[in-house]
Amino acid sequence: MVQKVEKIWMDGKLIPWEEANVHILTHTIHYGVGVFEGIRCYLCHDGKSAIFRLRDHIDRLFDSAHIGDIRMPFTKKEMVEACKETVRVNKLKEGYIRPIVLIGEGVMGVYPGDNPTRVAITTWPWGAYLGEEALEKGIRVKVSSYTRHHVNVMMTKAKICGNYANSVLAKREVMKMGYDEALLLDTEGYVSEATGENIFMVRKGTLKTPPLTSILSGITRDTVIQIAKSKKIPLIEERFTRDELYTAQEAFFTGTAAELTPIREVDDRKIGEGKPGPITKELQAAFFEIVRGKNPEFKEWLDYL
Ligand code: PMP
Repeated sequence: MVQKVEKIWMDGKLIPWEEANVHILTHTIHYGVGVFEGIRCYLCHDGKSAIFRLRDHIDRLFDSAHIGDIRMPFTKKEMVEACKETVRVNKLKEGYIRPIVLIGEGVMGVYPGDNPTRVAITTWPWGAYLGEEALEKGIRVKVSSYTRHHVNVMMTKAKICGNYANSVLAKREVMKMGYDEALLLDTEGYVSEATGENIFMVRKGTLKTPPLTSILSGITRDTVIQIAKSKKIPLIEERFTRDELYTAQEAFFTGTAAELTPIREVDDRKIGEGKPGPITKELQAAFFEIVRGKNPEFKEWLDYL
């Protein structure tokens, strides 16, 4: 269960959690065109709290809205401030932030006409998305029977609500089989991304991640790329197959919720030694240092409350 907080920001006002409701004829509920973000706020080593790469998340929210042809009734600056205010007012030291933009009620049918845009920001405490043990020991992954979206069927660069029907189906499928996360292949059969994470693999000391062509431009993915650059770890953005992944020495997922989660198995095959490898561990440690404000090189990514 989501841990309830006091207030939710909705259409420009902070209102009690219980009152943050929308009408059942909200267009997005029926047809799926709404957009959202997932952001984390961390308690830093100096006792202050900071939102990680907030401006990048808000930029992506606006890009998603633009792709979805949804008019944003607030500016980026207003959304940045509203995210900070929502965390502050709920007295959270750390947690997850979920801005969501909906097409509201008005006309029905797939054409949304001039239905108003509704915007809300919720925050709640959220520990490790796949569990503390997942971060430490790695997870078991299964390639899904569902294919990731074709670029002309759904807009893969946008966090459009309806895109996630594919993620929910894939996640349920593999969870029922006892795995932790689903990996989806693209329409040509190459590894694309997971239900809410990007993927990296390591072979012979080089990191490899699929190019952005048909996947979400993950902010954690970009963070890892920049950490790898600063550590001079070679990295290529190139598509790869599931069998190349089976023979990787290391692999991991990245995502705001999942942070940097090692993969210890794919389709019942051990990855490397079946435990987080040295490059994964090094990047994971560097990631947590950055988000907790311990690395001045990347301090511009932190938005203190
Ligand atoms: N791919 C998908 C489909 C996602 O939903 C997410 C989560 N936003 C990611 C990748 C990872 O993106 P980020 O690191 O920005 O959270």
